[in-house]
Amino acid sequence: MEITICYEVAKAVTDQELVRTGERNSQQRRVEVALKNLDSELQRAALVVASRYQEKSDTVTLCHYTGVSSYYGSSRLGFSPLEYDHVLSEAEAIDEVCRMLQRVLEFQPQLEALRAEEAANEAEVQGYLQQLLEIEDDQEFMEAYCVTVPMGYFHPELEGVLRDMRDREARYQVVCAQERENVRKREDALRWDRQQEQIAGWVIQHGTRNQKQRLEAGLFPPEEYLNAIAAEVFPDRPRYEPLQHRDLPCGGCYEDVDFYSEKADSATPEEWEDLEFYRSFRRHVSHVELRRHFGKCRCGETATRTGILVEVTVGEFTLRREFAA
Ligand SMILES: [Zn+2]
Repeated sequence: MEITICYEVAKAVTDQELVRTGERNSQQRRVEVALKNLDSELQRAALVVASRYQEKSDTVTLCHYTGVSSYYGSSRLGFSPLEYDHVLSEAEAIDEVCRMLQRVLEFQPQLEALRAEEAANEAEVQGYLQQLLEIEDDQEFMEAYCVTVPMGYFHPELEGVLRDMRDREARYQVVCAQERENVRKREDALRWDRQQEQIAGWVIQHGTRNQKQRLEAGLFPPEEYLNAIAAEVFPDRPRYEPLQHRDLPCGGCYEDVDFYSEKADSATPEEWEDLEFYRSFRRHVSHVELRRHFGKCRCGETATRTGILVEVTVGEFTLRREFAA
C-alpha cells in the first residue's frame, strides 16, 4: 500500500522554483511513500492518521499535532500547519512522517481515555433522555427535563431528540399560559360579580329613586358609583395638575419635552405633614406616596412639581387620586 504525503512549502521557495521550472503549481507538494518502508508501529499510526485525522484516507498531510481536545463531545487531535522552507526529498518526507506519527502514538493513550469518557457521558445522557421520553405526565416531564437537558446540549447526535423535547416544552408552556389566562379570566369575572353586588348594595341603600330605576333596568354606570364614592372618601383639597409645556420657563420651545415622574426620595417638613394628613383622614387609605414630576425640554430648561398620590380601597374597588403638594 502506498500513501501520499502532502506538505506545504513556503511561498518564497515555490516562487524561486517556479522561476526555475516554470511550473504554475500551488504551494502544496506531494510525495508518494510505500507504507512498508515504515516500521509496524508507525504503519499503525499512519493508518490511524490517514483514516481518522485526515480528510482523504490515502493522503497524509504533514502537520504538527499539538494535543488532544474535545469539541462538542467528539475528541480529536489538535494540530497546527507546518510549512517547510524547501522541497523535501523522499527520505526527508518519510522522516517527517515518522516524527509526526510518533507524536500521534504519544497522544494515543490520552485520546483513548477522552474517548472512553465521552462514550460514558453519551451513554449517561442517552439513559436520561430515554427516561424522559417515557414520562407521559407533562408536569413531571418538565421537572425532569429542566434537570437533564443541560447535560445533553453538547451532543449533536442528540439534537433531534432534544428538539422534540424543546417542542414538547414549548407546547407545555403554551398550555400553561392558557391555563393562567383562564384563571385570570375566572378571577376577573368573579371580581366583576362582587363589584356589581357592591354597586347594587350602595344604590339600594343610598341611591335616589332615579338611580334605583336605572340599576333595575341594567343601565346604571359604574362610574357614577365610583364618582360618588370618590367624593365621599377623598378630602376636598386641590388636585395635582399635570405639568405641561407652558410650565417650562421656555414654554417648551421643542415639541418633545420629556415628562416623567418618580417616587420622592426625601420630604420637607411640610410635605411630611401632608403625608400624615392623607394617611390618617380615612380608614380605608391603602397607599400614600410623595411623587416628583419633571419636565425637561431639549433646550435644557426644566420644570418640577410635587404631588401626593393617594389610594383608597373600598370593597372591591381601589380609587386613586393625586393631590397637589
Ligand atoms: Zn425649551
